[in-house]
Amino acid sequence: MLKYLEVVTQKRTHFEDITNAVQEIVDESGVENGICYLYVPHTTAGIFINENADPDVKWDIEQTLEKLIPWEDSYKHIEGNAAAHIKSILVGTNTFVPIKNGKLMLGTWQGIFFAEFDGPRDRKVIVKIIED
Ligand code: ZN
Repeated sequence: MLKYLEVVTQKRTHFEDITNAVQEIVDESGVENGICYLYVPHTTAGIFINENADPDVKWDIEQTLEKLIPWEDSYKHIEGNAAAHIKSILVGTNTFVPIKNGKLMLGTWQGIFFAEFDGPRDRKVIVKIIED
């Protein structure tokens, strides 16, 4: 089963918690055991799994990436969004979570985040559910 998850971002940099939306797709699939593979088909966005309990964690990640890769620097890319391309590579454009008894096997503090680095834009995440 393959589904597209739409993500509309409002700011240049934004991390959207998509955990519940992904679990809903797993529920719809009816798959009890398998793998949920998540793929972002964009060059200036990414996806990552990290803490979603304390919202300060995602703020710290965003600020640290900004310090490491500032928007303005001596980049050559004419479109002007080189920082977003570099952040996309660092964060990565795919991840996966095992499914057990119909539930994503995330840790207690883990959530799945879509990472926008050049918003606002209409984005999508490809969600592929593979049954055992
Ligand atoms: Zn570009």
